[in-house]
Amino acid sequence: GDEDSESVPLPLSSNSTSTRESRWCDTTPYASKKKVQCWLQLSNGNWELVKIIRSSGTESVVSLPDGKVLKVHDESLVSANPDILDGVDDLMQLSYLNEPSVLYNLQYRYNQNMIYTKAGPVLVAINPFKKVPLYGNDYIEAYKRKRIESPHVYAITDTAIREMIRDEVNQSIIISGESGAGKTETAKIAMQYLAALGGGSGIEYEILKTNPILEAFGNGKTLRNDNSSRFSRVVQCNEGERSYHIFYQLCAGAPPSLREKLNLRSAEEYKYLRQSNCYSIVGVNDAEEFRIVVEALDVVHISKEDQESVFAMLAAVLWLGNVSFTVIDNENHVQAVEDEGLFSVAKLIGCDIEDLKFTLTTRKMKVGNDNIVQKLKLSQAIDARDALAKSIYSCLFDWIVEQINKSLAVGKRRTGRSISILDIYGFESFNRNSFEQFCINYANERLQQHFNRHLFKLEQEEYIQDGIDWAKVEFEDNQDCLNLFEKKPLGLLSLLDEESTFPNGTDLTFANKLKQHLNSNSCFKGERDKAFTVIYDTTGFLEKNRDLLHLDSIQLLSSSTCHLPQKFATQMLTQTEKPAVGPLHKSGGADSQKLSVATKFKGQLFQLMQRLESTTPHFIRCIKPNNLQSPGLYEQGLVLQQLRCCGVLEVVRISRSGFPTRMSHQKFARRYGFLLLENVASQDPLSVSVAILHQFNILPEMYQVGYTKLFFRTGQVGVLEDTRNRT
Ligand code: ATP
Ligand code: MG
Repeated sequence: GDEDSESVPLPLSSNSTSTRESRWCDTTPYASKKKVQCWLQLSNGNWELVKIIRSSGTESVVSLPDGKVLKVHDESLVSANPDILDGVDDLMQLSYLNEPSVLYNLQYRYNQNMIYTKAGPVLVAINPFKKVPLYGNDYIEAYKRKRIESPHVYAITDTAIREMIRDEVNQSIIISGESGAGKTETAKIAMQYLAALGGGSGIEYEILKTNPILEAFGNGKTLRNDNSSRFSRVVQCNEGERSYHIFYQLCAGAPPSLREKLNLRSAEEYKYLRQSNCYSIVGVNDAEEFRIVVEALDVVHISKEDQESVFAMLAAVLWLGNVSFTVIDNENHVQAVEDEGLFSVAKLIGCDIEDLKFTLTTRKMKVGNDNIVQKLKLSQAIDARDALAKSIYSCLFDWIVEQINKSLAVGKRRTGRSISILDIYGFESFNRNSFEQFCINYANERLQQHFNRHLFKLEQEEYIQDGIDWAKVEFEDNQDCLNLFEKKPLGLLSLLDEESTFPNGTDLTFANKLKQHLNSNSCFKGERDKAFTVIYDTTGFLEKNRDLLHLDSIQLLSSSTCHLPQKFATQMLTQTEKPAVGPLHKSGGADSQKLSVATKFKGQLFQLMQRLESTTPHFIRCIKPNNLQSPGLYEQGLVLQQLRCCGVLEVVRISRSGFPTRMSHQKFARRYGFLLLENVASQDPLSVSVAILHQFNILPEMYQVGYTKLFFRTGQVGVLEDTRNRT
């Protein structure tokens, strides 16, 4: 196949199949292989296993499973693997690594509830959307004692533990995949294993128990996943989705005394919750969930008093959404309406109502040496209000995590080595992609680079260890794409920040600047022109990138008589002023010093990468087999797209340039020794193996003889296997 020019596995659209396919097709021409079964792509895109009846060298007559007979061009046929390879638990064992074979293998296993498959060093997990009998103490015990070898989250977690102990190196389990693919569930399954090993009393077990809290405050219902790990959905939520679970849980489950104290209403009465027109999740009882969360808060020793403060902050956020404004002059300046919403916010935050009104409708600015007060227009006031609500929620979340960590006394009990589990949002490519997708995909590019480098390195180390002749292959990584984001001063992030600070900058001037400066980067396309690119709509980029939280709002919180808002004010100030990573610091006046959202994001991403860099990573790629959250439904096209997106194909490609099939000398000699026409002088497995290779004229560049194993290029064992089956 032709080697692809672009190294970045961008999400693909379905019409790009033929382009990508070439990378997967076996390089040996079909006609030269006497094969009995092949893959034929049908008009609906799915692959069907066909039997060859006759072949002329350019055309073949094939029979379909339903008995139909067709004449097809040989180019439309792709090699299928011998039956003995059906459902192998590692894709590396496939002789033919082409798309249909991989899809078939995964589906074959999935249909038998074997949702886990290895793709070389990577664990592929396909969401079953139902309970599968693969978990619990018996399984944990079996994996611990190595009585089961089949791929599993338990197995990869076990490996992480063993390597942590053996190498004295921190480990990480990096879980990626689309929304709804099963990342969070997978993370919990890994935690389960760690908790069980801790004997049911260790810190791992306690962490597992804090899960209801993190999910209540960090997850919400989306169209893709009823329990989606999300960020930034407090003030804005799409039709049919929900904000964070905790809001609905509080509204449904708070006892009467608390309701009264917080002036709490039902979810339907809050604008932030009302906008998406969705209040419940099928099969979920929010009031009951509330009880569970309160119990978990007790477990992590958050006092009843603090719990009440937490709920007060939630109520404040909800009531903030109900604060409305009236226009008072013909310049669209506004005043806050003195209604229940405004009063409730003031009471819950513990601030003066006049201060609150003033803060929401004005902005103090420094002009030269003078302090002036600028009146806000309607849209600005709404932005200020929403920014305050978002910041309160975000501080609340951080505060809760901090309390949990304190309670677990992570610092004290840390024994030196750790296993980190990363549950990260995967590549996203929708019909319309905005700032959120931009950030998410940027993070994934960084992670992809980590993935590539690491896996490629490992692969080559195995060759060297077994002493085979291996010229180190330099791997072409996605550095160009990362440069596109990160280069200074002419990268996406820098240009975005620059434009965000210009008062006259608009989403359109931003887009034009990108086209002007970035056209030379091959990863950038100014226009919609190619399949498998992610198309971003810059509408709203500047707005979302500017941190709209006013200093005035922070000051308002610091004037509060309650301890949480005071804490939050301090927290917001540090976040505003201190960049997460040194070189990102921007200088300027009081306001320009504020870090943009993208820059903060980059800082946090770098911190994360730094942490991961010092660990031995273990990768799990979660796959969503259908968009209906429904069991038993395996959509080939959808699976394929994810395999391509999340880089499983990259690993396979790397393997293809190497020697992905390995077999010990013993096994090889046992399996094919009987095919030998002449006796071999020495009966040792290595000599027998070499004799077999010679007899079948396997080209020297197609294999390598290692100290313990034979290494083959893709497809080679298939040839032997065919001969063996015909004999
Ligand atoms: P998001 O990116 O939106 O947070 P996610 O990848 O974390 O999505 P999960 O919340 O882990 O997705 O999974 C979605 C749903 O799929 C779960 O609520 C559960 O119903 C089902 N699911 C996932 N993994 C499994 C599994 N191993 N067994 C049974 N059901 C599962
Ligand atoms: Mg999740």
